Amino acid sequence: MAEFDTEVLVVGAGPVGLMMAVELHRHDVACRIIERSPEVSLKCRALHVQARTLELLEHLGLAEAAMELGVRVRAENIWKDGNLLQRIPLDWDPLPGIPFPMMLNLEQNKLEALLSDHLTRLGGRVERGVALKGVSQVPESVTATVGTPNSVDHIRCRYLVGCDGSTSLVRKEMGLPFEGYPYPDTYIMADVEVEGWLAPEESHRFIRGEEVLLATPIRGNHRFRIVMRDNGPSQVSPSEYGFIDEGRPAALQDIQRALDRVARPGLHLINNRKTSHYRVSRRLASRFRKGRIFLAGDAAHLFPDAGGQGMNTGIQDAWALAWRLASDLRGFGTWTLLGSYEVERRHVAAEVADRTERAFRTRTELLDLEVEESPQLWMQNWAQLETNYRGLPGFEEHGSRPGKAALEAGDRAPDGNLELPGKDSLRVFDLLKGTSSHAFFFFRGLELPSELARLAAWLEQHRSHQVRCHFIREICSPSPEGLSPLYCDPGGALATRYGAREDSVILVRPDGYVGFRADAMHADRLLGWLDRLLGPVED
Ligand SMILES: Cc1cc2nc3c(=O)[nH]c(=O)nc-3n(C[C@H](O)[C@H](O)[C@H](O)COP(=O)(O)OP(=O)(O)OC[C@H]3O[C@@H](n4cnc5c(N)ncnc54)[C@H](O)[C@@H]3O)c2cc1C
Repeated sequence: MAEFDTEVLVVGAGPVGLMMAVELHRHDVACRIIERSPEVSLKCRALHVQARTLELLEHLGLAEAAMELGVRVRAENIWKDGNLLQRIPLDWDPLPGIPFPMMLNLEQNKLEALLSDHLTRLGGRVERGVALKGVSQVPESVTATVGTPNSVDHIRCRYLVGCDGSTSLVRKEMGLPFEGYPYPDTYIMADVEVEGWLAPEESHRFIRGEEVLLATPIRGNHRFRIVMRDNGPSQVSPSEYGFIDEGRPAALQDIQRALDRVARPGLHLINNRKTSHYRVSRRLASRFRKGRIFLAGDAAHLFPDAGGQGMNTGIQDAWALAWRLASDLRGFGTWTLLGSYEVERRHVAAEVADRTERAFRTRTELLDLEVEESPQLWMQNWAQLETNYRGLPGFEEHGSRPGKAALEAGDRAPDGNLELPGKDSLRVFDLLKGTSSHAFFFFRGLELPSELARLAAWLEQHRSHQVRCHFIREICSPSPEGLSPLYCDPGGALATRYGAREDSVILVRPDGYVGFRADAMHADRLLGWLDRLLGPVED
């Protein structure tokens, strides 16, 4: 490390940069994070925190704090011409494998504060008032030119991650086009207090004529976030996109008048705490990586404002990149592994862009208002639990397929309960904590089949620093010699959820995605798969 100032430099301390820095620290990677703004931003931006993000926060021990600071949204009501058209309940009972079947409203600045405090606990800190000015790279390193108002410095690092938002200098320095287009309108977002008949933990979408106004709850008495089109003179040139820092502050009376026009009478605004103006765009960077420089979050993608996807997708970019960088820096990553970041995350971003664009047009052009949303459908679409990498290079299935609806390589590994004989039950997500990959050996008989036993022994001898083995059996009886830890899966519920109808091995990567699955006969193919991903080991 002596010739480097740090292993990874993270540029930008928005939610994505903060998650990136937290994850790198958790993976024991030396990193620095710089932020050009000297002050923490309190602006009105993201609010919806999706179920998959809550799972990641739980992994970090932050989910409980997030839930305490936020509001669980219980329903979305759609009103047309003053009448309730549809009520979509979002207050579901626990769903199998899904510990957070909900959407949480938590202001972006509060989530950033949670991540920033956690970073401090892990020994990191945001270097505020330090802006990236330029970046260059050679095959073995990256050099960033950074500046404060009275100094210029150079930071030499192994990798640089641009989490510097929609106007990313990192992206520009890499010469990467930000392909896409802006939408014409400007929107107002205001955090207000409303007196009247609005149920406190429910969202409302009011439609009258061509006008749409959203009100969604924020923690605190009578507090709601209002989103509406800005009918004042446009504040932006057509080339601008994303968040607009300065705009005409929305007057309380303007929002009240809009509310009076579209909603049922009886709602009174008593306070406007803060306002943002923003423009909606759909854009995707042509690459998410160039050599040793990566993009994540808004620097890589911008989505139309529907269903709260931008920040959530960016946070998952960070989650997906940190373990790859850590593997590489520990000497067991391959260029294939680093390259797969762009393949996987760009694939996801393109899908989110299509979906949010459809939903945004539905909302603003008032199409398909009668759509029924079942919890499952909602989860698939917006909670990001169904986000998957199926069919992409690097995911493998061998042996008989478990059926159309079953879990496949490329899917998020679901939660579930297991028992350790003589102890309390525990959750799969507890096993997945930590920073390594996990090999789940599912078997039905008393003994582990010989093919799986050979594989497990080899993994424990050669790759125990990268892969942890877990043995899972339907029968709850004392452990056969040598198998530890041996969990009991009463009724085979977890095996069914994981599509392990036969004796099989399933490899879950450090980001919680199933990378490989094989029945016992093909289990030894895991060795080649690991070689390709993490590099070969010496026998
Ligand atoms: C009004 C609005 C509502 C939204 N609602 C939601 C929602 O409900 N759910 C959701 O998921 N998403 C939502 N989004 C999107 C979400 O806000 C963004 O996706 C998210 O902020 C992206 O995070 P980021 O860290 O990538 O970028 P940013 O939050 O933009 O952070 C980038 C950081 O980099 C810093 N920076 C920039 N250049 C430099 C430089 N040269 N040197 C050092 N630092 C630099 C900036 O100061 C900034 O702090 C919303 C967006 C808007 C505008």
